[in-house]
Amino acid sequence: MMRERKFKKRFCKYCESKVDYIDYKDVAGLKFSLSERYKIMPRRLTGNCKRHQELVTVAIKRARQTALIPYIVDRKNVVDAPFETSNR
Ligand SMILES: [Zn+2]
Repeated sequence: MMRERKFKKRFCKYCESKVDYIDYKDVAGLKFSLSERYKIMPRRLTGNCKRHQELVTVAIKRARQTALIPYIVDRKNVVDAPFETSNR
């Protein structure tokens, strides 16, 4: 329920801000496309276009490799709103 409302708008936010390159060090920006368990959100939920979703995916995988984003999240460590800046 909450998730559908969170991604109601159906436009690619990267296209709108005319982003050509997504920096893997920009974790705050990447978190928009991550679930609360740090999984990559599918395109149908985020509304990203195909091109930018691929850029986001690459950036997230790079960020994981550089330990900016965890690969897995323990059940105990899951928080309700880890990205308090991105939602409202
Ligand atoms: Zn786009």
